[in-house]
Amino acid sequence: MLSTYDAGRVLREGVETVIVGKPNVGKSTLMNMLSGAERSIVTNVAGTTRDVIEDTVTVGDITLRLADTAGIHSTSDTVESIGVERAKDRIDTAELVLAVFDSTSPLDSNDIALLETVKDKNTIVVVNKSDLESKIDTTSFDGMRTVTVSAKNNTGYESLSRQIAEISGAANLNPDTAVLIGERQRACAERALDAVNEAIDALTGGQTMDAVGVCVDDALAALFELTGKRVTNEVTDEIFRKFCVGK
Ligand code: GDP
Repeated sequence: MLSTYDAGRVLREGVETVIVGKPNVGKSTLMNMLSGAERSIVTNVAGTTRDVIEDTVTVGDITLRLADTAGIHSTSDTVESIGVERAKDRIDTAELVLAVFDSTSPLDSNDIALLETVKDKNTIVVVNKSDLESKIDTTSFDGMRTVTVSAKNNTGYESLSRQIAEISGAANLNPDTAVLIGERQRACAERALDAVNEAIDALTGGQTMDAVGVCVDDALAALFELTGKRVTNEVTDEIFRKFCVGK
């Protein structure tokens, strides 16, 4: 359950994403492909001092939060118009970077500067315009997660979706397994796990059953807090009876 926490957070809160690339590589078109039928919902995120308008798109099971996407539709987030330095700020704060390149021409100095900036980030290189003849040297992307798409023709969506799920840690998430829903629950589950481990240590270390019982009590208390119930003596007694643990 604890191991699903991060993936749970991704599913619950979405992934802060930025789409970067030179003008005309196809960022807006990619954005449209990602939005698909589920055209972006504009949400006002509460709890922030300043209202942040976010565009969210759902790709497979994952919600991408494209903060300040106005920039994507104008040219204000392109490497060329704002310079790599400012693009860096946005890339630094993003959880996921979709770095778009146009496959119909060789990489130029802007592309290479962008590549340098994103290569140590959680980046998916999106090589766009696969419907046209390729003139790009893809060995420049060696060692990076790379997806080839034609945003215009909607091809490559499945592999992009898969890569996004993988990079978000949610690829192997079984929807039937419990997904923790918040930090408080995570803390409770962690406490329960610690207490169970202590109980096992106490047992194998030859401690008295009373000492083991205290640890089991702690574990139960944490688990009941998780579910919002309280531990009662009856519950503890029942457990002790079932497991034939003498008190
Ligand atoms: P942006 O400036 O990076 O947002 O680029 P746009 O999305 O506006 O696309 C620039 C141009 O490339 C437009 O004319 C698009 O129609 C075209 N384009 C985008 N993606 C593709 C693609 O996959 N194949 C082809 N052939 N053209 C594309």
